[in-house]
Amino acid sequence: MISNMVTKLLSGLMTLLLGLFGPDEEDLKIYRRKIGGSVWHSCTRCKYWPREHFEETEDCPPFGLCPTCVQYEMQDRRFSGR
Ligand SMILES: [Zn+2]
Repeated sequence: MISNMVTKLLSGLMTLLLGLFGPDEEDLKIYRRKIGGSVWHSCTRCKYWPREHFEETEDCPPFGLCPTCVQYEMQDRRFSGR
């Protein structure tokens, strides 16, 4: 049980360190849209993030971005200072 907590703590720390010093995720950004849908998602934490039957692009869609994903991204930017 304690080792479980330590593992969680360590993986959390790694995520934090990777976020600070790792490769810039902007370069790896992927947008997904459900096939037949009109909304693009950019955040894997979005509850509408398509996991099957989707199309994918690396180019930022000019419109139709999911508001939930935009909100997540704004939060991320605030926390990482970007
Ligand atoms: Zn979304």
